[in-house]
Amino acid sequence: MNRNHLCSNHPFVSSIVSSNSVLITLITQPMTLAIYITTYHQQFYILNQFLILPLSSSIFSTWAPHQGSPSLLGAMVIPSKVKHKLIKGVVINMESLHQEMHFHTGEFPYVDVWAGELWINILHESLKHGLAPKSWTDYLHLTVGGTLSNAGISGQAFRHGPQINNVYQLEVVTGKGELITCSEKQNADLFYGVLGGLGQFGIITRARISLEPAPRMVKWIRVLYSDFSIFTEDQEYLISSQDTFDYIEGFVIINRTGLLNNWRFSFNPKDPLQASHFNSDGKTLFCLEIAKYFNPDETDIVNQKIDMLLSELGYIQSTLFLSEVSYVEFLDRVHISGLKLREKGLWEVPHPWLNLLVPKSKIHNFAKVVFGNILTDSSTGPILIYPANKSKWNNRTSMVTPDEDVFYQVAFLSSAMPSSTGTDGLAYILAQNERILEFCEAANLGVKQYLPHYCTQEAWRTHFGTQWDVFVRRKSTYDPLAILAPGQQIFHKASAFS
Ligand SMILES: Cc1cc2nc3c(=O)[nH]c(=O)nc-3n(C[C@H](O)[C@H](O)[C@H](O)COP(=O)(O)OP(=O)(O)OC[C@H]3O[C@@H](n4cnc5c(N)ncnc54)[C@H](O)[C@@H]3O)c2cc1C
Repeated sequence: MNRNHLCSNHPFVSSIVSSNSVLITLITQPMTLAIYITTYHQQFYILNQFLILPLSSSIFSTWAPHQGSPSLLGAMVIPSKVKHKLIKGVVINMESLHQEMHFHTGEFPYVDVWAGELWINILHESLKHGLAPKSWTDYLHLTVGGTLSNAGISGQAFRHGPQINNVYQLEVVTGKGELITCSEKQNADLFYGVLGGLGQFGIITRARISLEPAPRMVKWIRVLYSDFSIFTEDQEYLISSQDTFDYIEGFVIINRTGLLNNWRFSFNPKDPLQASHFNSDGKTLFCLEIAKYFNPDETDIVNQKIDMLLSELGYIQSTLFLSEVSYVEFLDRVHISGLKLREKGLWEVPHPWLNLLVPKSKIHNFAKVVFGNILTDSSTGPILIYPANKSKWNNRTSMVTPDEDVFYQVAFLSSAMPSSTGTDGLAYILAQNERILEFCEAANLGVKQYLPHYCTQEAWRTHFGTQWDVFVRRKSTYDPLAILAPGQQIFHKASAFS
């Protein structure tokens, strides 16, 4: 998501778009341009920097960074505590360029895409070939480079691993200005470093993404639990089974009334009479969200399969809700909700999100304290919770996961009301996030942050743990001047490797 709004009508802006030589001049001769940037997280506003719209990856290859080069801020991730901070550097808008996608439809199909491409566009183009990527994020209006720099996790990750495990090849411009093609077999150190590398080693310009035959339809199912142990047992059983659902997620429901009534707009209760007697008021509930993909000629078989899988689960029987949607509708579901929020002015608000990876052995302790003591009011956004198998995670990437075979992704996806000083205000939610993190640390849960935010190198060192030395070595190899993504506050230009 790259939405950059210019505060000033700077005369360079049109030149940037139209001339390569101006681009290179700007990179080598620092000048100031005031840019107003908003991102979905909206916790920082004013930047003092350049804006570059790349015309092709070959532009970068003529770039020779030197000690005085401005920082490349990438697409910006800035820790939540840094607000209204003035930063000098260059923002590269990867979305500004649209290049054609190239499909390969052999035994192992794939697509070559520009890194600024949105996943939703890849989905639509792939479907024309009867194909689709295997692993997704819940929201598809994100760039390939953005999600591959983190991980790209959704309900398919238990089977396919995150998006970073479903890429065959990358083209990267390193911090030294070299344009390098890398894969598992060619320049593997850079390939794995950049995947989950938080934009620290290079700018991904192209990616080769693995595809599979696309289904046409999806049976989308929600069931409720009041017992956390039964909920997690069922989730863990489902992700470890061979013949299981194609998508497995879950979420926590705290202090919500009229919940099932809301669902009725998109889901049908299996037993409407029983469902009407179910009362969710006040209780903390856990919703298992699962989906089975199918093609219309397989409807009977898939229904039998679903009945069989559901019969093995311990959910509250009256709370079985079903829906049948197209594959595109299912994958693009968050965008549809987002459009509704936008209409109400509830999308362009601060989103102080906290994403944690919690080891399986600690999830009960975590849930007891966090859902029982810390989040006692109703939550300010969805709280996702679902397990993944570490065996599906390639441990050569820069992505850090907890030290256990199964871990839970717990995502507190809060929205803050801009002028509120109450429990839905930014300050309150940030303090609550801090309490959760403090508890995890005090209880020594071995939790890792996903989409991490830290303000000191010491905290980053702890985050990376045994992977820190490799991370530092890769930084000194591929971005020795530490000009890439300084907003993460992992390395500083002057003292990158002290
Ligand atoms: C509404 C929403 C829903 C989300 N849902 C999920 C989800 O379900 N699962 C999940 O895993 N994540 C999710 N995310 C997080 C998402 O994966 C990251 O925020 C990701 O960075 C978004 O990509 P972007 O295109 O918005 O990147 P940006 O915000 O533009 O960039 C973020 C950072 O990524 C790096 N970066 C971006 N492009 C490149 C590049 N080409 N080369 C090198 N580095 C680059 C830079 O360091 C940059 O600072 C969600 C985010 C949002 C806003």
